[in-house]
Amino acid sequence: MSFDINKIREDFPILKKEIYGKPLVYLDNAATTQKPLCVVEKISENYLNNNANIHRGVHFLSQVATEAHEAARETVRKFINAKHSREIVFTRGTTEAINLVASSFGRSQCKAGDEIIVSHMEHHSNIVPWQLLQEEKGIVLKVIPFDENGVLQLDKLDELITEKTKLISIAHVSNTLGTVNPVAEIITKAHSHNIPVLVDGAQSVPHMPVDVQALDADFYVFSGHKIYGPTGIGVLYGKEEWLERIPPYQGGGEMIQKVTFEKTTFNELPFKFEAGTPDYIGSTALAEALNYVSAIGMEEIAAHEQELVRYTLERLGEVEDIRFIGNAPKRSGLVSFLVGNIHPYDLGSIIDKLGIAVRTGHHCAEPVMAAFGIEGTVRASFGIYNTKEEIDILVAGVQRAAKMFRRK
Ligand code: PLP
Repeated sequence: MSFDINKIREDFPILKKEIYGKPLVYLDNAATTQKPLCVVEKISENYLNNNANIHRGVHFLSQVATEAHEAARETVRKFINAKHSREIVFTRGTTEAINLVASSFGRSQCKAGDEIIVSHMEHHSNIVPWQLLQEEKGIVLKVIPFDENGVLQLDKLDELITEKTKLISIAHVSNTLGTVNPVAEIITKAHSHNIPVLVDGAQSVPHMPVDVQALDADFYVFSGHKIYGPTGIGVLYGKEEWLERIPPYQGGGEMIQKVTFEKTTFNELPFKFEAGTPDYIGSTALAEALNYVSAIGMEEIAAHEQELVRYTLERLGEVEDIRFIGNAPKRSGLVSFLVGNIHPYDLGSIIDKLGIAVRTGHHCAEPVMAAFGIEGTVRASFGIYNTKEEIDILVAGVQRAAKMFRRK
């Protein structure tokens, strides 16, 4: 399929909605994306026709549901080019996937004084799990700084890495600055010191082709709801050697081989990390979403969104007193900004009344806001269905809000 924006927009019924009598302009895709009809239909079809608890069931429906869930795992494997489907663990999302690694890797591989490196531009979900480990185990959390453009200061990484570094955990794309981090370079450097790397792909997987083998990532995580899939399902990719080496995250059904009161043995990969009834409805709907974007083409999607970012920077650049937060040369998916002294919340509220959905605030990245000495930003973030006309509406809305505040 070629990139046909009109056809794509037709696939998303919510885009026809009016908000306060104005056509919806949805520019909050970094928070969550809208869902194409095929994904919504997949969910209802599963509940209406194929619903039964999976694995171990001998009856027909259970086998159908099991096959669909495992086929979904294979779809995810192909999408990020993992070597084996046993390296794909379904989680509730990026947050749970990072917590899984922080807990299992942390418990088994880290002791007091060991060091974990993150960057200053991480989402809270790639900071707080490590701080919990810090409290529990006495590990040390080290931080790669970024410069005034929002580019990581990689020269500092050499000073941060020591004999005690156990893991580097880093966002592929910043959810506030839009910076695309050079994760391949970071992984190569880390591996030269035998340090594994976790990549937070929440803001990259929806916007660019990702190949975990080419990157040589040890762990790579993302959320289904940010890539046109349902909420409550996400993915942890882990290299087999690492997933074998670290212990289960939660205990319960599915993840065991044999349970006695004397000794319990664990299931093979990936089930060892999937305690309880898996979200087999969510997994198959996620696979539907991945098939949907694959049919359009991740390269085509990346090119479309790059053009939207370029156009937004150019058009918003016309607004008096605009200040862009994040000016990295390699960026993706979003633009964060402030206008004069207007509080982001005020700006967001005014343009909301024009039907424009943007996010305002710290975007779960308070350390980024602290580094810039600001409380928050206005963030416009893009998806496959956004158009330049919508950006024109955004710019007109921002101009109007700015005028109102200047008059005041
Ligand atoms: N990491 C990044 C970079 C994000 O942007 C987000 C969500 O905005 C997350 C992690 C957390 O994702 P989730 O809430 O889906 O677990």
